[in-house]
Amino acid sequence: MTQISEMLKKGRTFSFEFFPPKNDEEQAQLVRVLHDLVPLSPSFVSVTYRGGRSSRKRTHDLVAGLKQTTALIPMAHLICVDHTRLELAEILLDLRKAGVVNLMALGGDPPKGEDQKYGELTYAIELVELAQAIGGFSIGVAAQPQGHPDSSDMESDRRHLAEKLRKADFAITQFFFEVDHYMALVDDLSALGVDKPVLPGILPIERLSSVGSIKTMGASVPPKMIEKLENAQNSSSKDPTGAVKRAGIEMAVELCQKLLDKGCPGLHFYTLNRSTATREIYDALNLNPATSETPNSNF
Ligand code: FAD
Repeated sequence: MTQISEMLKKGRTFSFEFFPPKNDEEQAQLVRVLHDLVPLSPSFVSVTYRGGRSSRKRTHDLVAGLKQTTALIPMAHLICVDHTRLELAEILLDLRKAGVVNLMALGGDPPKGEDQKYGELTYAIELVELAQAIGGFSIGVAAQPQGHPDSSDMESDRRHLAEKLRKADFAITQFFFEVDHYMALVDDLSALGVDKPVLPGILPIERLSSVGSIKTMGASVPPKMIEKLENAQNSSSKDPTGAVKRAGIEMAVELCQKLLDKGCPGLHFYTLNRSTATREIYDALNLNPATSETPNSNF
């Protein structure tokens, strides 16, 4: 029962995020992705709580299944939205019974079309407190380098984050594309007296069409990055899609290297249940345990 907080005390972690499949096709895709990514020996893998309360069984089954059938260390995501306090406590107890000791405690978003959060708990910090009352969890929370999209101002957003992270063990960030955004987050938290590990979340942009949706999730894509992606698309008449993907991965590698050089406590990859980009970034950073000349001490 390895806790992520214990791993982080020993050194860097390199982790992957998956979402629980909703149908047979997604299940088959996840099996293929796990087959490709397990050899990279991630420090832990996280499983999202996808689509509100209907994720309860799917997320539980995937983390429990990974725990039982693989050597992977899973972390379950859980959201406050749309659950009673009792339901959340039951979910947490079920996770403990399945031997899952790592939890990502999240506020969650109201279902599409609803502008008001509902559920008995409003903020992620309340879920952190509930999980702590049950006991035995290493608890991560979400951090937004550029502020939560719904926040009225950065100052209060940082204050709420600091309050939440003071209680939790570590944070994982929303994806971002400039190292300065991560450094500003870490510095602001430090100024508020919070120096817990903050794991940068990494998402390579693999399609120009995804730039719009990325922005709505609180991350700005720098114009020079969009220009590089457009140039890649325009310069390859044979395979513009592949060229954009390669450019996106190249820029993600550069960001990861800068973050590692700045001393970040690890990297968390948003895999979107695909494997190519993560494998290529691992290879470029010399993190692949099969080929690395200087394997990371965590492997
Ligand atoms: P909170 O910490 O509760 O913050 C939400 C907002 O409330 C912020 O604007 C904050 O500043 C404000 N706030 C906090 N405390 C207070 C207070 N006391 N008073 C007033 N305002 C306050 N969503 C899913 O549905 N499933 C997932 O699996 C999932 N995984 C995620 C993983 C990561 C790494 C990240 C970064 C996000 C993830 N999300 C997921 C999205 C997340 O649920 C949303 O961003 C959600 O809107 C906020 O969640 P939070 O945990 O940051 O909430």
